[in-house]
Amino acid sequence: MTVSTAKKGARVSLVKVFSAGLIGILFVFILLSYFTFTRLLSFESTLTDVSDKSLPNLIRISQLYSQSAKLLESTEFLSKATSNASKRLAEKQLQTNLVNIRKAADEIFENEFLDTQLNTIAIELDELSALIEDRLITNNNIELLTTKMYRLNVQSVSFENPSSSSWVLGFSQASVNVGRALNEKKLQRVRFLFNQLSEQLNELDVISSKEQNQTVRNQLTKQFKSLLFSENGLEALKIKSLRLEGRAIGRENFVHNLIEDYVAQLGFVTNETEKNITSQVALSVTEMKKQTHLIRFILIGGVVFLLIIVILFQQRVLKRIRIFNQIVRNKTQGSEYQTILDGNDEITDLAEAFKEFTQTIEIQKQKLEQLSMLDGLTSIANRRALDIRLKHDIELSVRQKSSISLLLMDIDCFKLYNDNYGHLRGDQCLKDVSKVISDSLQRESDFVARFGGEEFVCVLPNTDSKGAQDIATHIIEQLKNKALPHEYSNVADYVTISIGIATSQPNAILTPEALINHADSALYNAKKAGKQSYSLYSSTIPLE
Ligand code: GH3
Ligand code: MG
Ligand code: MG
Repeated sequence: MTVSTAKKGARVSLVKVFSAGLIGILFVFILLSYFTFTRLLSFESTLTDVSDKSLPNLIRISQLYSQSAKLLESTEFLSKATSNASKRLAEKQLQTNLVNIRKAADEIFENEFLDTQLNTIAIELDELSALIEDRLITNNNIELLTTKMYRLNVQSVSFENPSSSSWVLGFSQASVNVGRALNEKKLQRVRFLFNQLSEQLNELDVISSKEQNQTVRNQLTKQFKSLLFSENGLEALKIKSLRLEGRAIGRENFVHNLIEDYVAQLGFVTNETEKNITSQVALSVTEMKKQTHLIRFILIGGVVFLLIIVILFQQRVLKRIRIFNQIVRNKTQGSEYQTILDGNDEITDLAEAFKEFTQTIEIQKQKLEQLSMLDGLTSIANRRALDIRLKHDIELSVRQKSSISLLLMDIDCFKLYNDNYGHLRGDQCLKDVSKVISDSLQRESDFVARFGGEEFVCVLPNTDSKGAQDIATHIIEQLKNKALPHEYSNVADYVTISIGIATSQPNAILTPEALINHADSALYNAKKAGKQSYSLYSSTIPLE
C-alpha cells in the first residue's frame, strides 16, 4: 500500500493564505462600516440643516409674506383713518407688523439692503402718519368752522321777516353752497365754488343794504366771509385738506410701492435662500449617490472576495482533507490505494508525515511478521512459517505438476543429552544442528523449520524421493562431520539424527497434514531401524 503526495510548485502556506483572507474580509468590513458611518453622518447633517435651518426659514419666510401683506393693509387703514382713534389703531398695527417683519427677517437673512429698505418704509410710514395727523386736524378745523357757519345761518334765520327774506334765503343758499364746496374733491372746482360763494356773499351785502337790520346782517355776512376766506378759513382749510389728501395718497402709494418692492426683494433673497437649500440638498443627494455606489461596489467586492475565500477553503482545505481522510481510511482498512494529494502546504506536510508514519509502521509490521515466523532459539523458521510455506509449496507443485518431498528429522537420544549436559548445552546443540541442516540445503527454494522440541523439517520443492534421500544422506553426513560430542548417546559418540522422508507425486497429491504424517511414519521406521539413518514412507507400513 502506498500513500503518495506530490509537491507541485512553490510553497503556499494555508495559514498565511487564510490569515490574509480573514484580514481582507476584516478590512472590507471596516471600509464598509467607515463609509456607511460617514454617509450617515453626512445624511444626519443634511437633515439637521433642513430641519434646523431650512424648514424654519421657510416658515419664517411665509410669516414674512403674511406680515408684509398685513403691513399693506395697515398702511391703507392708516391712510383712510378718519379719526384719531382709528389712526392710533392703524399706527399700533403698523408698529407690530414692522417689529414682526424685522424680527423674522433678522433671523433669516443678513441682508443690509432689506434692512435699509425696511427703515425707509418705517420713515415713510412716520411721514404718512404725520400727514394723516395734519389732515385730521385740518378736517377737524373744517368741521369746527362749518359748525360756526351753521350757527351763523341759524342767527340769520332769526332775523327773518318779509322784508329780509331774500337776504336770509341768500345766506342759507350760501351755507348750502359751502357744504357743496366742502364735499367737492377737485381743487379747481373748490376754488371755483368758493369764488362763486364770494360773489354770492358780495351780492348779499348789496341786498342787505336795502333791507332792515342792515348792520346786523352786514355783520353776519362779514363773519360768514371771514369764516370762508380768512387765512385759516374754510376755503384755505379745504384746499389744505385736499392737498394733504393728495399728499397722503401719494405717500401711501409710495409706501405701498416700497412695501411691494420690499416683498419683491424678499422674494429674490428667498429665492436665493431656497436655491441654496436646493443646491445643498442636491449636493448632498449627489454625494449620497456616489457613496451609495461606492458602498455597493465595496459590498459586491466583499461578497466576491468572501466567495473566493469560501471556494478556496472548500477546494484547498475541505476537499483535500476529505481526500486525505480517504487515504487514511483505505490505509486503515489495508486495501491497496494510491492517490495524489497535490499542492505544497500544511495539508501536504500532514500527508507526508502520515506517509512516513505508515512506512515506519509497515517496516515494524514486516519485522514483527518476520519475528512471528522465526523460531526464537534457532532463528530458523518456526512451525507457523512451516505450515504456510508447506501449503504454498504443495499448491505450487500441483500447478507445476512436480514432486515435492518433506524430511522430518529428530535428534537421536536428545533426552540423554539434556539430562547429562544440561538444558543450556541442549539449546546450543539444537542451534548447531539447525545450522548444519540449513547449510546442507542447496536450493533457494529449499526450506527448513523447527518442527518442535528436537525435531526439524525440510520442505524440498521440485524434489522426488531420490533427491530427498540424497539430501537426507547429506545431512546425516554433515552431522557426522560436525561431530558434536554426545558421549551418552546409544548411537554414536557424537550427535546424530534420524530422518523420515515423504514425497508428494504429481499423480498422488498429498495434503500438508498427510505429507507430515507420512514423514513421521517414516521417521518412526528410521528410529526403529537403529537411528542415524533415513527411511522412506511406504504405504505398506501402517501408520501409528
Ligand atoms: P529418541 O532417540 O528416540 O528420539 O530419544 P530422545 O531422547 O531424543 O527422545 P525424547 O522424545 O524421549 O526426548 C526428547 C527430548 O528433547 C526431551 C526434552 O528434554 C528435549 N527437548 C525438547 N525440546 C527441547 C529444547 O528446546 N531444549 C532442550 N535443551 N531440550 C529439549
Ligand atoms: Mg523427538
Ligand atoms: Mg529424539
